[in-house]
Amino acid sequence: MAGRNFLFVPGPTNVPDRVLRAMVVPMEDHRSPNFPELTLACLNGLKPIFKTQTGTPFIFPSSGTGCWEAALTNVLNPGDKVLIARFGQFSHLWTDMCQRLGFEVEIQEIPWGEGAPVDKTLAALEADKQHKIKAVLVCHNETATGVTSDVAAIRRAMDSAKHPAFLFVDSVSSLACIDFRMDEWGVDVCISGSQKGLMLPPGLGLTCVSQKALQAAKSSTFKRCYFEYADMVAANANGYFPYTPPIPMMYGLREALKMLAEEGLENVFARHKFLAGGTRAAVHQGWNLSLCATAPKWQSDTVSAVVVPGGADAVQVIARAYKRYNLSLGAGLSKVAGKVFRIGHMGDINELMLLGAIAGAEMAMNDVGIEVEAGSGVAAAQKYWRQAAKADTKPLRPADAKVAS
Ligand code: PLP
Repeated sequence: MAGRNFLFVPGPTNVPDRVLRAMVVPMEDHRSPNFPELTLACLNGLKPIFKTQTGTPFIFPSSGTGCWEAALTNVLNPGDKVLIARFGQFSHLWTDMCQRLGFEVEIQEIPWGEGAPVDKTLAALEADKQHKIKAVLVCHNETATGVTSDVAAIRRAMDSAKHPAFLFVDSVSSLACIDFRMDEWGVDVCISGSQKGLMLPPGLGLTCVSQKALQAAKSSTFKRCYFEYADMVAANANGYFPYTPPIPMMYGLREALKMLAEEGLENVFARHKFLAGGTRAAVHQGWNLSLCATAPKWQSDTVSAVVVPGGADAVQVIARAYKRYNLSLGAGLSKVAGKVFRIGHMGDINELMLLGAIAGAEMAMNDVGIEVEAGSGVAAAQKYWRQAAKADTKPLRPADAKVAS
């Protein structure tokens, strides 16, 4: 098919040419005296992304799922109790992992379309007088439903209940897109991956661990090997890894971190908010459809899950978009399969790219019998952006920035 694929799934995201080029490297000795320079540039560069000064970032050759497992098996002990709210496929999969690893799991069942429940979390922690709950698990951005949770409010609930549980946060689809504050929010383990806001291919599990959690890991009796934090700590201290690291991915990570620093993290967040606002305008004002996120406070700045009208099948929209327009939209997962299609708006994107996805979604919907006015989403997004730019929320390209990416 002629033309580029429009990749608008909520991860993997588009990899900037600069990052792709940075990854084209000859192989080298990962035990050479020069190698630590690359390792340390990556690890040190990740600290501002996690907004931490005291936490320890790790790079596991895995994906986000590996870092979930690393957090659970390093910091906790077999059979420990954990508290998790389930409101989408990824919070479900994390719950499932906890159960399969033998934890006692207190599950808060929340309607898909809402996020982590602050009041219920507070109530559960206050009721836990004996402090049996050892960790509270929060999915910052539920990619399946396009819902962002208020992690700071969960931390306040934990503090208000004077509960000593660890706070583990999944920021797989929020890191480097939506504000995340490891130190300020007292997060003990943040779990993320390379293939979303970090603008890299899949393959790196990126995680950051508090001093308190690292201390606990020293006495955990869980059996583990590949994901042993202590081995990483020891090897990383000198800029090495306990096993062969994915070298090209690390060159890519170093370049992606440079790009984020050049744009400025706060500008990156503002860009995501701006683009998400345009997408939501297309959905609501343009198409007269709704989002899976049930209230504005839950709406994610990285992914919008669009609910198709009753009787329509979102699977058909996605298939048509892909086969006819070379546009990849995200599928509805599990409970919302067939009910939603998802537009990922995270990572290396701008307005014009997003307008292509909005136009493609419009055309695909019309082709399969969902009547939306041609151009209505595209126009609504533009109108939103014109208003928002007047309010000066859109960061402009710095005068001296290179045009070519
Ligand atoms: N958590 C969230 C919120 C996700 O979106 C994903 C994947 O999309 C995962 C966890 C699992 O991460 P991975 O596929 O990198 O293992």
